[in-house]
Amino acid sequence: MRYKQGRNIKKKLILILPSISHPVIRLVIRFFFKTPGTFPLFVLPALTPRDYTIKIYNQKLFWLKGDFTDDALVGISCATSNSPEAYRIADRFRKAGSAVVMGGLHVSYFPDEALKHCDSVVIGEAESVWPEVVRDYENKTLKKIYKGVPLEDYFSPAYDYYLNIDPKILYRTGILLSRGCKYRCEFCVPPFGKLRFVKLEQAIVLLKKIGEHVRRPFGLKPVILFRDDNIFSDPAYAKELFRRLIPLNLKWVGNSSIDIAFDDEALMLAAASGCLKLFIGFETIYPQRLQKTSVGNMRSTKDYLEAIRKIKSHRIKVIGAFILGFDYYTHKDYLRLIAFLMRAGLDLVSLTILTPFPGSRIYEQFKKEGRITTFDWSKYDSLQHVVFKPKNMSALSLQLWFIVIRVLGLFVSPYFLIALGQSLVAFLFFYYLAHHLVNMF
Ligand code: SF4
Repeated sequence: MRYKQGRNIKKKLILILPSISHPVIRLVIRFFFKTPGTFPLFVLPALTPRDYTIKIYNQKLFWLKGDFTDDALVGISCATSNSPEAYRIADRFRKAGSAVVMGGLHVSYFPDEALKHCDSVVIGEAESVWPEVVRDYENKTLKKIYKGVPLEDYFSPAYDYYLNIDPKILYRTGILLSRGCKYRCEFCVPPFGKLRFVKLEQAIVLLKKIGEHVRRPFGLKPVILFRDDNIFSDPAYAKELFRRLIPLNLKWVGNSSIDIAFDDEALMLAAASGCLKLFIGFETIYPQRLQKTSVGNMRSTKDYLEAIRKIKSHRIKVIGAFILGFDYYTHKDYLRLIAFLMRAGLDLVSLTILTPFPGSRIYEQFKKEGRITTFDWSKYDSLQHVVFKPKNMSALSLQLWFIVIRVLGLFVSPYFLIALGQSLVAFLFFYYLAHHLVNMF
């Protein structure tokens, strides 16, 4: 059903980031982490007329009947793994009578699929077309498709809005200073447009505000989470950012490509600017097969070991991410991966299962080869399901390797005990809750 054409349009905007995980897992996540949304989610409110009332729902735990109002413009951001949940929410709002617009990578690749559940789809980055979407909503002339063009300076139009957001909210959302990526990994969905950055002056003003307003217990310094795919995408930008961060006296963590390990100046500046941890996508024990590391000095795991040693010599912790399921991996290679993890000295290991996300090169390749085993997007979680036929083993074997290496990976990490402690606290909390609920009825 289309939104109620006859009604008076209410200036009400609801923005939704649907959840990916099961409600119980969400509850556990919510117990430990509270995020009001992601940094980019605030771009749309920034571009929405000021007389709108705006609500943002980030991974809302439970939806009640009363949440599905009949009088709003509803914007839903949709990735592949949360698309089933996104479509469910879209259906409910649409049924109630609200106008539903969907955006995000998944619907940009499958607009027809999304249009079964919503009134309009924004393909690509929304900034360039959002004012038009709002205008059309008010005029009751929403189009089915809006094609966004990546803007060179996508952040300046929203900058004032970000300046006026409570810095504590920005602190919790994490900061994103760039869009796009200079690499084209076969398993990754390429971001829209070329690599672009927030102006450093703007970034520093926001970061300074956070430093001035966020207070942590025991006088600890705020730890900024840079959400960029790669904080070291542009070494010159990164170094200048680090230099300007030094006087702010903050701490930070972020993702980086491994080439930072071979730039002594960058490492020195990163450490001086408060870098605590770098999350590095090693992905495979055969770095020469990765386009993104071939630019550096990575030829074997020996180079990885050297890179990790160099980063850690600056007292920066290294979280190493690996993907399981590449076509060239045999059982022996998983044993090699375990052997590598045991001596790598990583502070934490993050593992995912190779997933052919729509838009990635492996999606096209596996689809052509007839190797995708399900198009149930809820299974595209990269953690619990194998959604393609691996080349050298069964899907079950791959899943078993994932479990084994995940468990072993915990033992190479000094954070293991912390994680174990946290899980125990969560378990006791839910046990206590369940116990009381059972006794109540
Ligand atoms: S470096 Fe990261 S963000 Fe860039 S293409 Fe590879 S996986 Fe994607």
